[in-house]
Amino acid sequence: MKKGKKLYEGKAKIIFATNDKNLVIQYFKDDATAFNNQKKSTIEGKGVLNNRISEYILSNLNQIGIKNHLVKRLNMREQLVMLVEIIPIEFIVRNIATGSLTKRLGIEDGTTLERPLIEYCLKNDKLGDPNISREHILAFKWLDDIQLDLIDEKLKRLNDFLLGLFRGVGIKLVDFKVEFGFTHESGKNDIILADEISPDTCRLWDSITEKKLDKDRFRKDLGDLIPAYTEVAKRLGILHEQSNVSAVNVTKLSSVKKKNK
Ligand code: UDP
Repeated sequence: MKKGKKLYEGKAKIIFATNDKNLVIQYFKDDATAFNNQKKSTIEGKGVLNNRISEYILSNLNQIGIKNHLVKRLNMREQLVMLVEIIPIEFIVRNIATGSLTKRLGIEDGTTLERPLIEYCLKNDKLGDPNISREHILAFKWLDDIQLDLIDEKLKRLNDFLLGLFRGVGIKLVDFKVEFGFTHESGKNDIILADEISPDTCRLWDSITEKKLDKDRFRKDLGDLIPAYTEVAKRLGILHEQSNVSAVNVTKLSSVKKKNK
């Protein structure tokens, strides 16, 4: 697979063309941003961990019929994925109220929701990713009724799957954000899951201590982000219990891999 030119650079990832028009390479950067880009930093090793964690989750989703863009992980920082036209909506599912929801609606932080709450935000940095309703999505024809019902259905199944996956390793899935895209392969207009599922896009709390094992460590200046993401990877069985993945080790591993290519 030949890597081509850069097609798009986002806040945490870069998309490169390949010699196959239906496939692109997704590169995980170490950049972290929060609060609509107002807070920025580089956290060495974050991209490597997100690449591994997202690969693990997305490759398991195929088994429960949630089609997604992942073809295969190529190396420490890159995945081969299907080219999709991203739907300009962030789909958020919440099990416990925290973050922007509590601020917006005055709900007490940590309130367990009796049923999963699905929210939609328009993907638009300039507007600060505003919350939108189902009616907005239909009115502006971002999706039709059938497509949106299908996505809601997938979100509920995905939530059930992820709740179980994380609960099994002593982690509460508080909330998460996903993105979907249209594939135009062979003239069909299928909707598949795209982007990533990682501690950057989920809120993950230790089941017993409620220690945050996600990007809130960066948002709230709690420190130790790499050890927290490493802990998630170890509990999922992606990294071995004894591997001590400090930021330095992750960087070393990644350069060793590059030299070997
Ligand atoms: N989220 C994300 N990207 C965004 C906004 C939110 O991945 O641009 C994730 C976030 O990590 C959390 C969930 O979506 O798991 C809900 O986030 P919330 O709306 O509370 O936003 P925040 O508090 O991050 O502004």
